[in-house]
Amino acid sequence: MDKYSVLKQYFGHTSFREGQEKLIDAVLSGRDALGIMPTGGGKSLCYQIPALMFDGTALVISPLISLMADQVGALENAGISATFINSSLTPEQLDQARDGVRCGRYRLIYIAPERLDSDSFLRLISERRLSLIAVDEAHCVSQWGQDFRPSYLRIAGFVESLPERPPLCAFTATATARVRQDIREKLGLRGPVEVVTGFDRPNLFFDVRRPANKTEALLSLLRERREKSGIVYCATRANVERVCFSLQRAGVEATRYHAGLSEAERRQNQEDFRFDRKTVMVATNAFGMGIDKSNVSFVIHYNMPKDLESYYQEAGRAGRDGEPAEAILLYAPGDVATAQFLITHGEREPNNGEEGGRREQDLRRLEMMVGYCKHGGCLRGCILDYFGQEHGAGCGNCGNCCESYVESDITVTAQMILSCIRRVHDKLGYYVGMTAIVSVLRGSRSRRIEELGLEGVSTYGLLRDRSSAEIRGCIEYLENAGYLFVEQEHSTLRMTERAGAVLFRGERVSMSVRQDLQQESRRERRRRAQPAAHWRSEPESDLLMALRALRTNLARREGVPAYIIFSNATLADMAARVPRTRSQLLEVPGIGAVKAERYGDLFLEEIEKYADGK
Ligand code: ADP
Ligand code: ZN
Repeated sequence: MDKYSVLKQYFGHTSFREGQEKLIDAVLSGRDALGIMPTGGGKSLCYQIPALMFDGTALVISPLISLMADQVGALENAGISATFINSSLTPEQLDQARDGVRCGRYRLIYIAPERLDSDSFLRLISERRLSLIAVDEAHCVSQWGQDFRPSYLRIAGFVESLPERPPLCAFTATATARVRQDIREKLGLRGPVEVVTGFDRPNLFFDVRRPANKTEALLSLLRERREKSGIVYCATRANVERVCFSLQRAGVEATRYHAGLSEAERRQNQEDFRFDRKTVMVATNAFGMGIDKSNVSFVIHYNMPKDLESYYQEAGRAGRDGEPAEAILLYAPGDVATAQFLITHGEREPNNGEEGGRREQDLRRLEMMVGYCKHGGCLRGCILDYFGQEHGAGCGNCGNCCESYVESDITVTAQMILSCIRRVHDKLGYYVGMTAIVSVLRGSRSRRIEELGLEGVSTYGLLRDRSSAEIRGCIEYLENAGYLFVEQEHSTLRMTERAGAVLFRGERVSMSVRQDLQQESRRERRRRAQPAAHWRSEPESDLLMALRALRTNLARREGVPAYIIFSNATLADMAARVPRTRSQLLEVPGIGAVKAERYGDLFLEEIEKYADGK
């Protein structure tokens, strides 16, 4: 069978995605390969297809145990024999898997890198002819990446120790040159064919919002997405607890995940989410690497992550099925301090005394992340710039591209802010941060302001009628425009020389404001009344609902998550095409021979009911 037939037969797809073919060809010709593709880009097929075409068994090294069960489940469901060997197996299951490996039953075996330490495993695997070795999440080999796993460093030695070295292929979504170089070296790739695909995820809608109250904003976002499944990322365990609790209290079907929970609870909560028993997962970044749930339709960041790589990887977990999906970040300036704290005090794997340089690099990456949050232009463009990819002027599918801007003259407000900073400094003899300045301008009666005696300064209460979010927005704008800067050590606000032009020489300041920031409530109303073009606006057809219900029943019966049967995209396409025969059914993307055999009749019967107009 050639690669196209394998693609169709087992996976039900008719064409390759960007980069897949080149990587597959490389491996098929016996070469090493390095694939750098965004999350959801389709990395798995790049080694699964050669694995099905070669004799022997492919070994897949992957960092997370939860991922393996899922991937193996999906393969088996497509009629491909595969197994995983890891610590979650019972002794009986392990024996069974070993027997299967011995008699060559499997086309693919998934293992965690720690297995390579086990002599009994090495003996077992040396009996097999390995067709290829695939390393998933290959950035784990790099200490410069985000998820360093020391046992990844043993892979190279293992590969070299094999009597016959099979092609070695590695995959990651991390793009920085440094990590890429580490992957090549530390895995010992030999002259690999490298493919870096476009990092764009056109089906993802990006947005950054600055709500005055994040919890309320989150609740209203979730209310608008009630039927959908999504992840809410928080920066700390404490935030996960708090946010999850407020959501549950408000009636949202939410569950939580962080490293402080018992393993049993983590597993339980993760399963509840995978099986759609709970629609919202509130989690720290401990959740998700390798979570292969394809029907996640939004990822909301309650806190800003510490760099754009993490952000893009986490946000990228939305819309893996290719359906329109959303990545929304709720930004507040306080997130910057939290991220700084995590960088300076967070836990780290020990490494070779490079701590200092690394911290500096982390802080630089944080700056870029903050830049994204404050970015006034196309958000997708900002991300693609970071990953070094060219792009057009505006994507038309992000919060900034879709909103209209109004140019507003903020000279008077700017003068008030700047002179407030000056007066407060005159009064105290030192500079203060954004919060204090906003409090003074709004005429706050807080203890702190009182203690400092700041009610006495002449700018006290001048912007009483404005919201804090609005004033913060202006301050940030003044920072971006070079009138202000934030002194890093104590996060205090200071003026640059340019500020003098506004205060004393009549320079005018105008700022383009996204309309929603001025009129949040009106925009929300408008959005509800008239969904934006990116969002599927058609109501679900009866047929689609029936197909969905059938899928739910089947999934329940087989004890697998619904998306393992068919993805949302496949169901939607089926409802649109209304196939009446087995061969028409096979034209639906995502339906291969085995799935058509297994589920085809049931779905065709269901379609028949509707086609008959019942
Ligand atoms: P990654 O590992 O890169 O994050 P996956 O390998 O999990 O991504 O693939 C993401 C999704 O894309 C899966 O649902 C998969 O079925 C789908 N996919 C992969 N390749 C193709 C293709 N050539 N055509 C259509 N869908 C594809
Ligand atoms: Zn855009």
